[in-house]
Amino acid sequence: MATICIDPGHGGNDPGAVGNGIKEKDYTLKISQYQAKRLREHGFKVVMTRTADTTLSNSTRTARVKNSGAKICVSNHVNAASPSANGVETIHSIYSNGKLANMILDELVKEGFKRRRAFSKKGKSGRDYYFMHRQTGSVETVIVEHGFITNAGDVQKLKNNWEKFAEADVKAICKYMGVKYIPEKNPTAPTQNSKGLYKVQVGAFSNKSNADKLAQELKKKGYSTYIVRE
Ligand SMILES: [Zn+2]
Repeated sequence: MATICIDPGHGGNDPGAVGNGIKEKDYTLKISQYQAKRLREHGFKVVMTRTADTTLSNSTRTARVKNSGAKICVSNHVNAASPSANGVETIHSIYSNGKLANMILDELVKEGFKRRRAFSKKGKSGRDYYFMHRQTGSVETVIVEHGFITNAGDVQKLKNNWEKFAEADVKAICKYMGVKYIPEKNPTAPTQNSKGLYKVQVGAFSNKSNADKLAQELKKKGYSTYIVRE
């Protein structure tokens, strides 16, 4: 299975943008850790540029991306501008067709962010303006700006729904990589149904004999089980 690189923007001495009571570096790390976990659940190998609140120089960060062996890198950020600016932007290299950047933008908009744009930016040298594009070699890197930290509405969305937004990124990555997306669920968490029962699901099989096997095993251990076809 392919390798994906996840880059939590900023960190350590560099808080990134700060506003409305939150720091960019904290949300980029939370979003990244969530994405890494979910991508691994899909079978991807994941390399992160940082896994804690540590300071990374630009060259260390980009070396980690370059050496990750990944096809793509998602660099997580939160934007900053005047208080009225809000919504999602994704930024791709001038050498990219922008497909991944657009897919991520689409999924984040579905989860409630305002659509701004997917774009690339050329610097004075005629090369990519952003170092994450300029210095990451053949790894296709997309910078994802998850709303604006300077906008109270976006910060509220981030605080309440950052997991949903991280999940939207995962969905887009799966689509782009041609891997079947498995919606997030927590099968160990009991949920109350209308009859007031708590159910615990232990497995789901496309082949009934496998379901029967697991049911038998559980019966042996003293659990009462039943099989439901969905
Ligand atoms: Zn940033």
